[in-house]
Amino acid sequence: MSVLESFSYRDLDACRVGRVDLGVNTSFVVYRLGDTLIDTGPSNQWKFVKPFVQEKPLRQLLLTHHHEDHSGNAGAIHRLTGVQPLAPKATVEILQRGFRIPPIQKFIWGSADLAEAAPLPERITIGNEPVTPIFTPGHAKDMTCYLLRERGWLFSADLYIANYLKLLRSDEHIPTLMDSIRRVLQEDFEVILCPHRGVVENGQARLREKYDYLLDLSERAQLLRVEGKDPLEITRQLLGKESAMSVFSGYNFSKRNLIASCLEVELESFR
Ligand SMILES: [Zn+2]
Repeated sequence: MSVLESFSYRDLDACRVGRVDLGVNTSFVVYRLGDTLIDTGPSNQWKFVKPFVQEKPLRQLLLTHHHEDHSGNAGAIHRLTGVQPLAPKATVEILQRGFRIPPIQKFIWGSADLAEAAPLPERITIGNEPVTPIFTPGHAKDMTCYLLRERGWLFSADLYIANYLKLLRSDEHIPTLMDSIRRVLQEDFEVILCPHRGVVENGQARLREKYDYLLDLSERAQLLRVEGKDPLEITRQLLGKESAMSVFSGYNFSKRNLIASCLEVELESFR
């Protein structure tokens, strides 16, 4: 597999890479705006990410969270360009000590080297534009999105990906995720730059759809619980049978995880 796609959107350069070409969940878009790279792509695609990085001078590398598709080339980019990755404090710590990657993810993305990232400075800019980091845990404990208020662009990390979801990782937490989405929806933005989906226009409306979907799913799951159904029955009724991916991952990435987490949502506080 090679570079799947190179494209630009206004003054943004983008390069989609991936070993497994099975759509948005198995490919990754590395973005460059001016002299800043946002996330690095997975390490097993380094031979394609490297020339993209070398195309133009690099001054800054911003990481959104530690997951291997986002941070996998951070150390290699640091060695290649001398640019030290900048990341949320929690991400810096995780990248210093390393983290476990489940086998199926290792197959899709490769491993992640240790990296010496530096914590985000007080003031971040791309060119002359201020960048606002927004802490958005739920998908990962350390995740941060980057908002460019002046142009209404949101580098959304893995906050969006799609306006619905059917599978959840065991380390994800829906109540925390919904809280993060709600915080981001208070901001004004038009365009989502998603490292999996790509450029999403009407981003604010699309992200709201995801919020509404999760709230609706939680309501329906909790109604069925009141009727006396157990979590596995609720999962089958609302989302159907588990997919092959769920079984391959040992249910680490599954429909039952999504329902279990939706059952924890305190509905009143999210309506
Ligand atoms: Zn992630």
